[in-house]
Amino acid sequence: MSQENPAPSEQRRTALIYSPALVQAALPAQHPLKLDRPAQVRALIESYGLLAAPGVREVAPNPATVAAARSVHATDYVETVRRLSGGQQVPEMVAQRHGFSAFGDNPPYPGMFDFQLLVSGATLTAARLVHEGTVDAAFNPAGGINHHALPDQASGFGIFNDAAIALAWLRDQGLRVAYVDIDVHQGDGVEAAFVESDEVLTISLHESTLFLFPGPQGGLAEHIGTGAGRGYAVNVPFAPYTDDATWLWAFEEIVPPLLAAFQPDIVVTQLGADGYYDDPLAHLRLTTHAYETVIARLRDLAPRWVAVGGGGYDIDATARIWALAFGAMAGVELPNKLPPGYVAAYGGKQLRDPPDAAQSADTEPAVREFAEASVRTVRRLVFPIHGLSTA
Ligand SMILES: [Zn+2]
Repeated sequence: MSQENPAPSEQRRTALIYSPALVQAALPAQHPLKLDRPAQVRALIESYGLLAAPGVREVAPNPATVAAARSVHATDYVETVRRLSGGQQVPEMVAQRHGFSAFGDNPPYPGMFDFQLLVSGATLTAARLVHEGTVDAAFNPAGGINHHALPDQASGFGIFNDAAIALAWLRDQGLRVAYVDIDVHQGDGVEAAFVESDEVLTISLHESTLFLFPGPQGGLAEHIGTGAGRGYAVNVPFAPYTDDATWLWAFEEIVPPLLAAFQPDIVVTQLGADGYYDDPLAHLRLTTHAYETVIARLRDLAPRWVAVGGGGYDIDATARIWALAFGAMAGVELPNKLPPGYVAAYGGKQLRDPPDAAQSADTEPAVREFAEASVRTVRRLVFPIHGLSTA
């Protein structure tokens, strides 16, 4: 092993994983996923001067190998993705069994095989840079959207599960890895890849699957993993209309104690921004303040940090939230006024929401009670497995 041990430094070394090819795929125009989101995120990060900040670098990804895709996905599924991508004949029943249909969440599109390998490769590039000690934190905003992709099935816009593939690679380097998913949808695909394993701890905070995709066959607080993985899959569901204060409270109750007990070498976080109050696909009431607070906490909890994007269908808010995240990774406090160059291209005024952005006249007590019940259940079922007090 010729791994260099760089001198410790106060300066945080941070990488943004990006190339124009990461935002170019032939997804149908009416599809709700707008693949150019990372380009807008990068524009905001660049216009703040962050790409030229000390310790920050931009790195183009290498595509993942087919073998890397197979580390999480079934061989016949990978082959179906390849054939559909190249326009080859695939029996309709086979395509549907693997989650593909022209008018569903996962329409096949030309070139999707290579595109998906590139997205997974970008998350693997982030993982490799952090593992090798080249940087402390690396962010692939084009990744994470695949967190619903199952070992043998495309699901919820996800095809090759880049976060799971990177977690598997880090595990195979002999590391303890934890995954924290703050997307409004449960990270079911990543959980499924490791649900029977105690080598990877997965934690998902999400709007309850009783109300939202992917549905209540998983994602409830009672779903804690199986076999050797019992206690290593953690779900913290919230009621619709949950606000910043309740979401942050539950995060603090669950995530820091579990990470402290598990002692991961590297933490992978999925930073889906679709819990935002104005997001069109879900019903939480989070503002940029909740995201900024949690991201600062994750930075403290994860000195070696791989971050990926995720959902986020209010594109302007998603760009602001992920720029805040990258600023936190780089240790730079971004001014609130959006840079003029960015405003000229994309509009907007302020990076952060006004303090009362998502204020509702009355947060239902039932919303708070729902979160309290989730926290109680996780602490009762999961904490003892990690030697933690349930109190
Ligand atoms: Zn989502």
